[in-house]
Amino acid sequence: MSPPVLEIKNLHKRFGKLEVLKGIDLTMEKGDVVSLIGSSGSGKTTLLRCVNLLEEYEDGVVAVAGEQIGYKLKNERRIRLSEKEIARQRSMTGMAFQHFNLFPHMSAIRNVMLGLIKTRGMTKDEAYAIAEKWLDRVGMLARKDHYPGQISGGQQQRVAIARAIAMNPQLMLFDEVTSALDPELVNEVLAVIQDLAKDGMTMLLVTHEMQFARDVSTKVIFMQDGQIGEEGPPKQLFKNPKTERLAAFLKNSK
Ligand code: ADP
Repeated sequence: MSPPVLEIKNLHKRFGKLEVLKGIDLTMEKGDVVSLIGSSGSGKTTLLRCVNLLEEYEDGVVAVAGEQIGYKLKNERRIRLSEKEIARQRSMTGMAFQHFNLFPHMSAIRNVMLGLIKTRGMTKDEAYAIAEKWLDRVGMLARKDHYPGQISGGQQQRVAIARAIAMNPQLMLFDEVTSALDPELVNEVLAVIQDLAKDGMTMLLVTHEMQFARDVSTKVIFMQDGQIGEEGPPKQLFKNPKTERLAAFLKNSK
C-alpha cells in the first residue's frame, strides 16, 4: 500500500514562549479534501505552513508521501536536511496564498511557466503547453498574455492556482485564498477549487467560507487554541456540533 499523501503526528510548534500547535494528528489519503476552520489565532495557518516548512516545527512528524519534511532521524536525533533536499520536498506540495504573489513584470503564462522551467527543467515549449492547459482549466486562457496589473484579483488568484497546480504537486495547500478578494470575485475562485476537488486533487485548506467548506470537504477540522477541537465529515460537524465552542463559532460565522 502506498503511504498517505500527508501524515502529521503529534505536531508541536512554538513561537518563542507561545505554543501555537499542541499535538496535531492528521492523515490524508489521495483525493481527501480537508478544511481547517476556527477562530483567528487558533493555529490554522501555522499548521498549513508546517507542511511545506514555511514554518519550522519543534516536535512530531510531518510526512508527505512517506517522506518526513525537513528532518531525518539519526540515532534518535533529528537532523535538518540540506536546503537542496528541502527545496525538493517543498515541490511535492503546491501552495496558494491570500495574496497571490504573482510576478508583476511577467504575463500570466510566463508566471505559470517559470517554475516548470526552473524547477522541473522543462523546455520553453513544454512549459508553454502545460501552462496553456492549466490556464484553460481555470478559465484564464484568453488572458494568458495579460500582466497581473491588468486583471482582477479573482483572475490573479486563478492564475496563481494554475501556477501551483501546473507543477503537479501531490498535495495542494490553500491559505485563505479568497479573503483578500472583493465579495463578487470570491465565487469564481471557489468554483475553480471545487472543480479541482471533483477531479480528485488532494487538498488541505484554511477557509472562512463555511458553505464552501461544507460543500467541498471530505473532512472538516475545527481548530481551537492550537488543538483539534472537533473533526469529522462536514455534514456531521455543521449539523451536530458536539461542543459549545464549535456551535458558537458556527453561529457567528453565518
Ligand atoms: P490562524 O490561522 O488560526 O488565525 P495562526 O496560525 O496565524 O492562526 O496563528 C496562531 C498563533 O500564532 C497566533 O497567536 C499568532 O499570533 C501566532 N503567530 C503566528 N505567526 C507568528 C510569528 N511569525 N511569530 C510569532 N507569533 C506568530
